[in-house]
Amino acid sequence: MKYLSTRGATPPLSFQDAVLTGLAPDGGLLLPDQIPDVSAQLDSWRSLSFVELAKQVVTLFADDIDPAVVGRLVDEAYASFDIDETVAFTELGNVQVLELFHGPTLAFKDVALQLLGKLFEHILGVRDQRLNIVGATSGDTGSAAIAGVRGQGNVDIFIMFPTGRVSPLQELQMTSIPDANVHCLSVNGSFDDCQNLMKTLFADLEFKDRYHLGAVNSVNWARVLAQVVYYAYASLHFSKPVSFSVPTGNFGNIFAGYIAKRMGFPISRLLLATNENDILARFFTTGEYSRGPVRYTVTPAMDIQVASNFERFLYYHLDQDSERLKAFMSGFASTGKASVEQLPSSADFGATAINEAQTLEAIRAAHADFGYVADPHTAVGLAAAKQLQAQVGSDEQLVCIATAHPAKFPEAVAQALDGQTVTHPRLEALRGLPARVEQIEPDLEVLKAYVREHGST
Ligand SMILES: *Cc1c(COP(=O)(O)O)cnc(C)c1O
Repeated sequence: MKYLSTRGATPPLSFQDAVLTGLAPDGGLLLPDQIPDVSAQLDSWRSLSFVELAKQVVTLFADDIDPAVVGRLVDEAYASFDIDETVAFTELGNVQVLELFHGPTLAFKDVALQLLGKLFEHILGVRDQRLNIVGATSGDTGSAAIAGVRGQGNVDIFIMFPTGRVSPLQELQMTSIPDANVHCLSVNGSFDDCQNLMKTLFADLEFKDRYHLGAVNSVNWARVLAQVVYYAYASLHFSKPVSFSVPTGNFGNIFAGYIAKRMGFPISRLLLATNENDILARFFTTGEYSRGPVRYTVTPAMDIQVASNFERFLYYHLDQDSERLKAFMSGFASTGKASVEQLPSSADFGATAINEAQTLEAIRAAHADFGYVADPHTAVGLAAAKQLQAQVGSDEQLVCIATAHPAKFPEAVAQALDGQTVTHPRLEALRGLPARVEQIEPDLEVLKAYVREHGST
């Protein structure tokens, strides 16, 4: 299997090269040149555990790694989860909640980043290569990325976050990690400043090559691949086809569901749920993709206007035509809007935006009706499921994806539940731990000097 760029101007890459490359050099995103059809395997895969199914699915795409090695990496990746089955279902009436937050940092990003960390370790080891990972975070991504690579000999990781804008517990999830290859940078600026610093650093190709810069944001194909597994697993768990409600920010999570559906897993529809940053919900209902101002909500992991994985979906929607894709993207870049002639099929997708009041109400209702405490991101999915329920046939099972443990977002939970909140031992254990963090100005030369001094070549 080869990996091609959506923009069509990158020579085909192997899986291992795709994992190390992240964003394609032509500015596009990497996709496999074909999507395997698994229809014939479904019956024999129904009885597999999450981890065993993960080995099967990952092996199909990672065809340049020995299947026995893939098996070992998958075992190691998911050994860090708190529950044996990696993920869990909780029934709330006619909706099943698929909990993906039982990993080390209590967010669904662990499912992908634990495996990506193991893939990096293996590939770099075989090639005797090193990587300096540089990333920006507003919360969940940084801690999950650090948890994926902490202690690895061939990797240094530099995570930037805006000073004072990340919740104290989320900050401690990063800064309390004692491993010497972890470098937390508190940037005196906004999240945009952090992200711009990262983009400018990666644009310096000489520096990028010299210091082997690597990325862990959701444009990495291996992250999508790892996420395909829970869609596959859930679709085989029930005797009816499954529709998913997916709280969506960068379109990484729901895109994995789209790939799983294309592979032939029994998936009916994908219900896209955004918060008030509704650019994707508007696209799926009107065909127009138009940027608005970012609003800050109780679901910060979804406060995104331009979704980095959307380009992958668009590529398929435009019949894998890189020229049409480039025209769309350049129109969007210059005017802030672009549209498609044909709407994505309503047989595949539903979409809606959930506002702040509806999010809090969904937390309250799940608690009142079922005694279940949902984190605010999960609540966006629950609210969307309720709203779009009428579109889900009685011969389908509706599954809501739970993306974070509620203890990660105690303020929003308390706001919805009259001051009640929940805790998690992994988070409580962080309180009072010593923090290691470097304060820097949002200045490219300062960042470069830091990577030069603390990274490795
Ligand atoms: C990252 C994240 C999301 C959004 O996922 P995308 O892949 O960006 O759509 C939703 N909820 C939580 C808790 C997250 O951390």
